[in-house]
Amino acid sequence: MKKYLVNEIFLSLQGEGYWMGTPMVFLRFSGCNLRCPFCDTDHSSSTPYTLDALVAAVSAAASSVRRVCLTGGEPALQVDAALLDALHAAGFAVHIETNGTRPLPPGIDWVTLSPKSDFVEAPSPALEAADEIKVVFIPGKTDAERWLAFPARHHFLQPCYSSETDSSNVSETVAYILAHPSWRLSLQTHRLLGIR
Ligand code: SF4
Repeated sequence: MKKYLVNEIFLSLQGEGYWMGTPMVFLRFSGCNLRCPFCDTDHSSSTPYTLDALVAAVSAAASSVRRVCLTGGEPALQVDAALLDALHAAGFAVHIETNGTRPLPPGIDWVTLSPKSDFVEAPSPALEAADEIKVVFIPGKTDAERWLAFPARHHFLQPCYSSETDSSNVSETVAYILAHPSWRLSLQTHRLLGIR
């Protein structure tokens, strides 16, 4: 029987992008196929769940919230149609935040593509479109023109909060958006608020 390797499950507010401020359950899968230098997520530890146990755990964490965000690590390494069907049957709208290097099962309600190939060796995107694209902005590294052409309903640039960068990254991101107004700013508001 398949086991999903899960790092953590918790209820919080979406901190970034179009759904910022919206209550969601976060289902963080363990493991990723990339090694980004600024990765701020410790997704290495894992607990194995069967499908039924995983949906039960998400439901238990959700209270009355019926929106779940599949994240990681890289959730596309583990998410499959069976999990998607079971979460939908439990009444959840299903979001995913992915680096886009792996194909996704059909039927996900909201796809956030966060490409990392400007910063680390990565396969070409396996996705042809997304609901939103959220791109980490590092001046001189981020190919913003390329990602603005990617088919998505919303295009967000997000400053890099790595310890390798300083606050000038925020001001440079703002300056870039003012000069290229098809972009919108995304901030990691959960960090600013001190919540998960
Ligand atoms: S794709 Fe995301 S989770 Fe994976 S290493 Fe990069 S920042 Fe971390």
